[in-house]
Amino acid sequence: MDKKVCLVTGGSRGIGKAVAKKFAENGYQLVINYVSEKTDLKKVEEEIKRDYPIEILFVKADVTDMESCENMVKAAIEKWGRMDVVVNNAGITKDNLLMRMKEEEFDQVINVNLKGTFHVTKQVIPYMMKQRHGRIINISSVVGVAGNAGQCNYAASKAGIIGFTKSIAKEVASRNILVNAVAPGFIRTDMTDVLSDAVKESIHAQIPLKRMGEAEEVAKAVYFLGSEENQYITGQVLHVDGGMLM
Ligand code: NAP
Repeated sequence: MDKKVCLVTGGSRGIGKAVAKKFAENGYQLVINYVSEKTDLKKVEEEIKRDYPIEILFVKADVTDMESCENMVKAAIEKWGRMDVVVNNAGITKDNLLMRMKEEEFDQVINVNLKGTFHVTKQVIPYMMKQRHGRIINISSVVGVAGNAGQCNYAASKAGIIGFTKSIAKEVASRNILVNAVAPGFIRTDMTDVLSDAVKESIHAQIPLKRMGEAEEVAKAVYFLGSEENQYITGQVLHVDGGMLM
């Protein structure tokens, strides 16, 4: 049987890279999406292939653009002929208090985080429906459920992802496509490296496990929902946040 295929948006660093590695560990072929030149893709390829004998298709695509997403999914299907798991992970922050937030900061975050998830999902669903099999995992955030001062754009995008996830889960369940969200708390990546030590300390104080999470800890939850271990969970939000939200 052909190997299963997993596409991860924003998969060349942070949580996305850890997710890609987890699927590689379990024998999936990878489609790794990226948009900037921030990461040395050769190094990423070497790092994954050193440990796991799989193939990787890197696709540059901006998830805010429907046509780029269409081309990315077409390229993946051309190469592998199937699409088993899609992880909508690409995301950005542009933090500001509402009083100071520019309209473009609000729009940029919604466009990448929420509309990007819509674009990619819309492109892969027809293939998954034909296969009568698929798993989609959308990366939300604790902030999408609890809110956070200074992140109204980000919180709105991540709350939107939860509503989107539940709606699509209902639309495609009859075709054996399971759609879930994972809501990380604070995870050590480039996104949180920019926070000051004082902010990090105040974050630790709010987490029952008293530390930030690791990307690999999120990846394990994403893998569970995306793998064949999951046959009967759909439309759910799995929180991976050290107990921040109970
Ligand atoms: P990160 O290290 O900043 O990485 C962000 C990723 O998103 C990068 O791979 C980036 O691609 C990609 N990306 C950004 N804009 C894109 C676009 N327009 N098109 C395609 N890809 C794009 O972030 P992270 O911490 O790993 O976060 C990953 C996801 O988890 C995000 O959705 C984030 O909101 C969510 N999350 C993170 C935390 C946390 O504490 N870190 C907590 C909750 C939720 P390039 O590498 O090409 O730039």
